[in-house]
Amino acid sequence: MGADVKGQSARKSDSHQMIPYWLALIAVSILVFFIERVFAHRQGQSWLRRGLLSDLFHLGFNGHVVGVLLYAFAGRYLVEPDFQSVAVDWPMWLQVIAAIISLDFIQWCVHNALHRVPFLWHFHKLHHGVVDGEMDWIVSFRFQWIEVVIYQGMMALPLAWLGFSVEALWIQAIFGTLIGHLNHANLSWTYGPFRYLFNNPAMHIWHHAYDGPTRNFGIVLSIWDWVFGTAILPDQAPSKLGYEGMEELPTEFFAQQFWQLGRWLPQPAVSASGLILILSAYWALR
Ligand SMILES: [Zn+2]
Repeated sequence: MGADVKGQSARKSDSHQMIPYWLALIAVSILVFFIERVFAHRQGQSWLRRGLLSDLFHLGFNGHVVGVLLYAFAGRYLVEPDFQSVAVDWPMWLQVIAAIISLDFIQWCVHNALHRVPFLWHFHKLHHGVVDGEMDWIVSFRFQWIEVVIYQGMMALPLAWLGFSVEALWIQAIFGTLIGHLNHANLSWTYGPFRYLFNNPAMHIWHHAYDGPTRNFGIVLSIWDWVFGTAILPDQAPSKLGYEGMEELPTEFFAQQFWQLGRWLPQPAVSASGLILILSAYWALR
């Protein structure tokens, strides 16, 4: 969940010189795609798999559309022009480290809640509806938009208080995207001694285990799981992925994104309502 953080904070920056987040997202995606091709762990797993098209839509939707809409909405209705900017004058390296640590801890807490609170688990199910043979880098963006809003809403707390520069948040977002892609990629990497600091593919696949204990909630950093006793790192990968009852998940992108509506409406009607909602939101916030 390292995505679309950009732009929620900060002044005093030359953000116009920065590469748009979505272009960096594409570059990181291509990089991890090729890393996966070279270092593939589960031999025989094809990149051309069931659900790939739907996951590509999630990548574009959660990595760009939802971020644009949240940014536009926050800029128009929520953020006061002179909100706190404690960190904006710090050295860039310090801002980046502080942004990664503070935002990652918030995300670790939110991720815990998504699993432990039944109402919130409903929104997180989609991300865990990954069967064997489907787990690869692009799963890192298979989320419902409501979950993205929950994450971003909570992450606004340190952002509003500390007020990092746009550049620091950009680096934090790209780094988070890279680690998130690697976590879900078909790799067995642990990063050696750095496994106690950074979340990694070998740990995160256990978060997706079908009947495994609910552990490894880390996003970018694994340190929270080690400190709070929720980390596991067995030698072998889990034998089965997913969750009990995952057969209920719709397979189509819009039906997945508008899961709640899909409980009462047929999938074509859900798709149409989703498309209308997105287009009208863009029109209203343009
Ligand atoms: Zn989870």
